Amino acid sequence: MGYAEVTVNSPIAQRRTFSYAIPSGLSIDVGQAVWVPFGDKLLQGIVLELSDYPSVEETREIAGIIDPHPVLSPAQVKLARWISEHYLSPLFEAAALMLPPGFERKAVTFICSLPTLHELDMSSLTRGQREVLELVQKRGKISLRELERKLGSRQARLTTSQLVRQGLVVKSYELEKVKVKPKTVPYLRLAVEADEARQQAARLREKRASRQAALLDFLVQQTEPITLSEVRQNVGIPASIVKAVVDKGLVEVQHIEVKRDPLAYQSITPSYPLTLTAAQRSALESIKSSLLPAPSDNASPPVFLLHGVTGSGKTEIYLQALAEVVKQGKRGIVLVPEIALTPQTIERFASRFPHKVAVLHSKLSLGEQYDEWHRVRNGEFDVVIGSRSAIFAPQPDLGLIVIDEEHEWTYKQHDKSPRYHARDVAIKLAELTGAVVILGSATPDVETFYHAQRGDYQLLQLPERVTPSEGSPLPQVEIVDLREELKAGNRSLFSRSLSQAMAKSIASGGQVILFLNRRGTATFIQCRRCGFVLRCKRCEVTLTYHWTEDMLLCHQCNYRMPVPRVCPRCLSPRIKFLGIGTQRLEQEAGHHFPQAKLLRWDSDVTRGKHSHQEILDKFRAHKADILIGTQMIAKGLDLPQVTLVGVISADTGLNLPDFRAGERTFQLLSQVAGRAGRGSLGGQVIIQSYSPEHYAIQAAAKHDYASFYKKEVAYRRELYAPPFSRLACLTYSHTNDGVCQREAERMKRLLTQEIDSRGIADLDLIGPAPAFIHRLRGRFRWQLILRGSEPSALLKELPIPQGWTIDIDPIGV
Ligand code: ADP
Ligand code: ZN
Ligand code: ZN
Repeated sequence: MGYAEVTVNSPIAQRRTFSYAIPSGLSIDVGQAVWVPFGDKLLQGIVLELSDYPSVEETREIAGIIDPHPVLSPAQVKLARWISEHYLSPLFEAAALMLPPGFERKAVTFICSLPTLHELDMSSLTRGQREVLELVQKRGKISLRELERKLGSRQARLTTSQLVRQGLVVKSYELEKVKVKPKTVPYLRLAVEADEARQQAARLREKRASRQAALLDFLVQQTEPITLSEVRQNVGIPASIVKAVVDKGLVEVQHIEVKRDPLAYQSITPSYPLTLTAAQRSALESIKSSLLPAPSDNASPPVFLLHGVTGSGKTEIYLQALAEVVKQGKRGIVLVPEIALTPQTIERFASRFPHKVAVLHSKLSLGEQYDEWHRVRNGEFDVVIGSRSAIFAPQPDLGLIVIDEEHEWTYKQHDKSPRYHARDVAIKLAELTGAVVILGSATPDVETFYHAQRGDYQLLQLPERVTPSEGSPLPQVEIVDLREELKAGNRSLFSRSLSQAMAKSIASGGQVILFLNRRGTATFIQCRRCGFVLRCKRCEVTLTYHWTEDMLLCHQCNYRMPVPRVCPRCLSPRIKFLGIGTQRLEQEAGHHFPQAKLLRWDSDVTRGKHSHQEILDKFRAHKADILIGTQMIAKGLDLPQVTLVGVISADTGLNLPDFRAGERTFQLLSQVAGRAGRGSLGGQVIIQSYSPEHYAIQAAAKHDYASFYKKEVAYRRELYAPPFSRLACLTYSHTNDGVCQREAERMKRLLTQEIDSRGIADLDLIGPAPAFIHRLRGRFRWQLILRGSEPSALLKELPIPQGWTIDIDPIGV
């Protein structure tokens, strides 16, 4: 008898597998989805390993197969294990990342009545028990979920378990309904030979069933299967006629699966490879040479960092590298940060590989996701393109993974487990499959660049924009010191430089983008006169303003202070300046430029699937002169008529309580600056700031990644921050703030003891302190940060109590 190690879809299974015996007659493969008994339930599981011996003495048998084909490839099985180990996430959750959409199903608990129930004396029962019993009696059975909705979860569970104990009701389990089914369309075809059908038609005519006869004649003429709706349009017959011939056994209805195609709404014309520039050619050659079948020395396949300014032709390199991979009979996965914002990029891929590109992202309907997943697994696509979860697409014969804008935060799943980073997962997957990875960015993540400098990754540089003529270099960037504006009596949101430039741009028919970094607005206070921002004396990070208490707070060490009445630096009373929103900016722009047409683009106005595209199309068609927007504007858009970009305040990002604040500001400003001057009109960028001397702003203005990196990496080394250390963030959440704080302090003591007793030298504990987002969906959150060379090594071995979440390599702390 064989045994299988199975990861089970249960919260108590955590990071371990369970041994099950394989019943005789059942053939089981690694990666296969199965039903297994677990406690008193029947749960979904994935087979991760087969063995001749069980890992425990007593095993139960696998109950059945969910899908005859393995749902995970052998490489994906290994990847799931790695994710679970690396991010300390439950194993099934890691495997679930790769399952077909809508696959996960639970067993539903039902409370069922017993035949003897009507003879019962109800008077000994509580009112709550009677209520449940009556419901169960009336309906025969009722799901626990429904009872929970009716009575509240605690009450329902308590009462039913009392009733079960008294033997008045029993529990039973059923499987939840399947959420998605393939979409099918009914087709009609003859169930008999054509000759026979003609004879039958003649006979029907004699019997005056002329419409049935017409239908048969019509089907005889068809050379291809035809849908029921087409038949009805063409022949104009009601459903009853169709039914009549079907009932006679002359015609049959076949349900044929159709694929929902998310690219269908775009009209795409094929495109062809461009002749590369010298820099592009040399980068592509390096990539190509590593794409050749590897010699047998088992070295892990290479990771390339393609560092090139916006417009330097990175995408063209991705396309040509993919073409090479396809030529070798392999396939690729391309990750983009946020798919709704990159329709142009998708179009470029789709036009280079017509009908060979699959698009996967969370905004697709479940049905679309389901279809795409199956088509991908069947090997129908050369390229799968999508946001971070597309890395888990079942793409066979993987040869190349491209991660565009690799520095983007959206590649990290931070809000739910597994808290993985798609870039690190991609590198692991490449190692498991022999694929090559290209990380592309104009402003690489400092950690990625550090690896490239150390030789872990191969660095490829594209220093210049590909421009048709010499006329369109990187735009000129001017930094405006906002402190000088206030001194000069200018209280508007627009500095004198910016408003002059706007007027000029609009007058000459150009377009203007006004950029407002909303992340971080209203979380810190700033002196409106001198720009001073209060920081924690111990931790260096910006103190966060808490509205409810009117206090300033350090999110690392929990230091607190009241908001000062005057600025500690310049004594101005205008200390409590909390930033501005897009609506206010829109009003003021309207006031200053009444003749200009405005368009606002932020998350408030972009609900729904296509509205990003609509706003962009509108702006590109020059239906507005000024586009006001937040982060979204910064991302990879080609807007040739934009001649001026104004950054309203560069400081918001800089003052986030996060050691990556400088890096984020640099990235954002560089990207925003890259928006201007993409066309032949040239462009100008104006950055307004209260701290114009900051190296992140200075370097962004000069388009100088190297000097930014030098300063930033020195700063990280000094702080002992990544890449020089690794972090793990532990967050505890509870509806009561005091409980939260006490639990966090208890955990700190526990961890400190462990660190001391194991004699781990290079592990610091920071906190506890309220998390940056202190209260989320009604729950308070406190956090502890572990910093060292390998914080997860310690955490792996400790039982982590309920209510805690662990984030390995967190962002935004
Ligand atoms: P990036 O991805 O680095 O922003 P793109 O690949 O989008 O750069 O290139 C920027 C622009 O230059 C695009 O319009 C692209 O079509 C064009 N381009 C890229 N490479 C070439 C080339 N070798 N010859 C001509 N035009 C090119
Ligand atoms: Zn001041
Ligand atoms: Zn502090």
